[in-house]
Amino acid sequence: MSRGHTALVYEDEPARFGAALAASKLRTGGGASVGPLRRDDDFDPPELPGPEWVRIQPRLSGICGSDLAAVNGQSSRWFEPIISLPFVPGHEVVADHDGTRVLIEPVLGCAARAIEPRCDPCAAGDLGNCERLANGCIEPGLQTGFCESTGGGWSTEMIAHPSQLHEVPAELDDESAVMVEPAACALHGALAAGVSPGESAAVIGAGTMGLAAIAALARWTPPSALLVAAKHGHQRELSLELAGPVPASAVEPSEIVRASRRLTGSMMLGSGAHQRVAGGVDVTIDCVGTAESLRAALAITRPRGRVVVIGMPGVTTVDLTPLWQREISVRGAYTYGTESLGGEQIRTFALAMELVASAGLGRLVSATYPLERATDALVHAATAGSRGATKIAFDTRSKK
Ligand SMILES: [Zn+2]
Ligand SMILES: [Zn+2]
Repeated sequence: MSRGHTALVYEDEPARFGAALAASKLRTGGGASVGPLRRDDDFDPPELPGPEWVRIQPRLSGICGSDLAAVNGQSSRWFEPIISLPFVPGHEVVADHDGTRVLIEPVLGCAARAIEPRCDPCAAGDLGNCERLANGCIEPGLQTGFCESTGGGWSTEMIAHPSQLHEVPAELDDESAVMVEPAACALHGALAAGVSPGESAAVIGAGTMGLAAIAALARWTPPSALLVAAKHGHQRELSLELAGPVPASAVEPSEIVRASRRLTGSMMLGSGAHQRVAGGVDVTIDCVGTAESLRAALAITRPRGRVVVIGMPGVTTVDLTPLWQREISVRGAYTYGTESLGGEQIRTFALAMELVASAGLGRLVSATYPLERATDALVHAATAGSRGATKIAFDTRSKK
């Protein structure tokens, strides 16, 4: 066991969760400097929990919205039984394993946990729905990056189960490879929307998730028309680029109801926070997951339409009357596993590698930081949209 590794460790210090929450309310990303994340320059990577497990050395590891929620003390208590502290964050990881570049599929399901027989979702290839996230040969943890036993990508060494590893194709550089995990989440949500030919769609939010969802819709289930709500100019431009041949318009979030009226030829009803269209788009993909975005999704989706929630909502207050009165179906989309596409069953990760390459999603990596500049990196990630950026990642390649 070699000490002397560097890792950012998320510690079990409830007092610092409170401080992080308070600081993040004063300033976006403010929890980064006072929160429960600490740098350890004499980090001891975890022991291997079984004979199959291997050591890997991260190259790039992305910062995800769920990481920012944790760092800022905003995580839902829902996670408590399915994480274990302390953990090293980082689940969007491209790493080295014995001279080979690998990607991690971070969900810690029955295979990684040495649980036999596997639970029904794992047996069906729906890894993200595993029912044994708190059992088996490792500590509780829904994914690598939230589990004490595995380490995580925000470090110079971690461990992985071989079932989690995918070799990176030569045509993907490291920046592209680090986009595969978030692209897999987004495309799982985009396919869950089940857009049929002739149906219209809306995507709310154009950060990493929204942009990758747009690229996935355009590639596999192109809607007849696409409406995108995005806060920032560069996000609206990228949205239209990634929509490719799909007729698309991109507007500021405050314009989404009026734009959906134009798109669907529907009528407006109500005013202010209750403004909506009488009809609406067939399906809306919410890549933000706030009260505001959920309210907008319900305001622009037609009766009996569908809403897919990719953004992590947390504790929020939303008037669900439209869900009832318009018989709208709302479903979540979390991680990935296996997708049904054209009558075939395909691993989401395989599709994500294809999508990242064909849509050039590596360009969404806007900046990388060494672990030593964690605070700068986390603040940049928390304010990415307003700074013209999309994905921020940690870069440990200089350590090799
Ligand atoms: Zn994530
Ligand atoms: Zn399972």
